[in-house]
Amino acid sequence: MEVTNDNACSWVNDLTPRTNVKSIQSNEDCEWLIIGAGYTGLSAARKLAELHYNQKIILVDAQLAGEGASSRNSGYLVDTTLNDGFTSNKELENYRKKSAIYSLGIKIVKKFINEHQVDCDWNECGKFFASSKVEDEKILLNFSSTLSQLGFEHNLLKKKDLFKRLGTNFYNIALHTKGGILLHPGKLVRSMIDVLPSNVCLYENSCLINWNKNKDFISCNFKNGKINAKKIIFATNGFLKSLGIKSNYNFPITLTASMTRSLTDEEFKSIGEPKEWGVLPVRPMGATIRMTKDKRILVRNTAEIRNPFKMSKSDLKKRSINQKISIKKRFPHLTDDIFQSTWSGIVSRTRNSSQIFEKIDDNIFAAGCYNGSGIGVGTLFGEQIAIKASDEYTKEIEIIEARNKPTRLPPQPFLNLGIKARLFYERLRAKSEI
Ligand SMILES: Cc1cc2nc3c(=O)[nH]c(=O)nc-3n(C[C@H](O)[C@H](O)[C@H](O)COP(=O)(O)OP(=O)(O)OC[C@H]3O[C@@H](n4cnc5c(N)ncnc54)[C@H](O)[C@@H]3O)c2cc1C
Repeated sequence: MEVTNDNACSWVNDLTPRTNVKSIQSNEDCEWLIIGAGYTGLSAARKLAELHYNQKIILVDAQLAGEGASSRNSGYLVDTTLNDGFTSNKELENYRKKSAIYSLGIKIVKKFINEHQVDCDWNECGKFFASSKVEDEKILLNFSSTLSQLGFEHNLLKKKDLFKRLGTNFYNIALHTKGGILLHPGKLVRSMIDVLPSNVCLYENSCLINWNKNKDFISCNFKNGKINAKKIIFATNGFLKSLGIKSNYNFPITLTASMTRSLTDEEFKSIGEPKEWGVLPVRPMGATIRMTKDKRILVRNTAEIRNPFKMSKSDLKKRSINQKISIKKRFPHLTDDIFQSTWSGIVSRTRNSSQIFEKIDDNIFAAGCYNGSGIGVGTLFGEQIAIKASDEYTKEIEIIEARNKPTRLPPQPFLNLGIKARLFYERLRAKSEI
């Protein structure tokens, strides 16, 4: 198994390179080991450090901390979702439980950024669920009814208003939800690395190759050393399955995104100088498009099942062509050469889009599978899985554990065939929206 970094993510490349990076070079024992340093692992480490200030806590990542999906996402901290990956949210009670978790996720991220005075381009501007298809109004009216029943402020917008707000004529109908935040995911996760407490030892570029459970400890093998830990938390999200964690319940999906350079003043004027905005598609598999604070356009319009650990430069190039077309459809007069970068990121999905949060075995815990809500929910689950692993209980854990649990996946080859067929079908349905 290999975890690679394409070094192409604009959000990461916006930041100053990190120094003082340590890797595992010898054998060690510890009370706590966390595998994966994204929102989940960093949040778990922060909490464990607070709860067990005199115990040894080790946090390990196969690449540089935070440079997995936590930096590679679209930066929507969501209070509501219409689609969970490639499935739609339909059932009210389930939706209520999910949005209670989203709300806790927003609260914990907000607390973190206030406590540490984090600048991550935080913008409480809400988001649009938009479509070019007039007939999608029906989907949005149904969604509006769900949101009204749950008390989420929102309003329906038509083409003319959308042109003013977004600077494109592409969309005919949209629902704007007031809650939800847009942010710079790279800056957020970097701040979580920067404030790691001193009793957390962070090892990077250190891939866990295999692990096994012994009577009193869990033994973990890395290329240049071994760690024996009393308790372990797996926070590897898209890589849970490859480490044998809940393998019959989750599977990895590779997403790709592209970002333009900042639009010039002239280009920005030509689209009406809109304020920062974020659009999510009405149909699963349609494009997510964002205008950032610094006038860059982000597009994400792929989700694939593939060997999840690698995407070559030529693979990325093919997807970037697709994403250029997506921008061209929405902003026909912008030139082709405005693309700055294209990158991929791995996420983890479950059959019913529910998250993993559990004790896998004695002293072994895991959290992951957040679909498009990992910024808030990953931060929340990381903190709460640390509390659960410390044999404590909170109101948040009660809310998390009241969610629908992930359902078992069909065996191979039916699983891959099923996912591919579903992705193909959803892509076809969303063709005009890609
Ligand atoms: C293109 C894209 C767009 C997205 N958009 C959004 C969005 O707008 N809003 C939102 O909330 N979410 C979004 N997501 C999802 C979100 O990014 C994830 O849910 C979130 O990052 C999960 O955080 P995590 O810490 O659990 O996992 P990750 O950030 O993936 O961290 C897991 C870490 O584990 C490490 N790891 C894996 N295997 C090993 C190993 N064997 N040994 C050691 N370390 C290992 C990896 O290197 C990685 O750093 C998006 C994701 C992508 C890819």
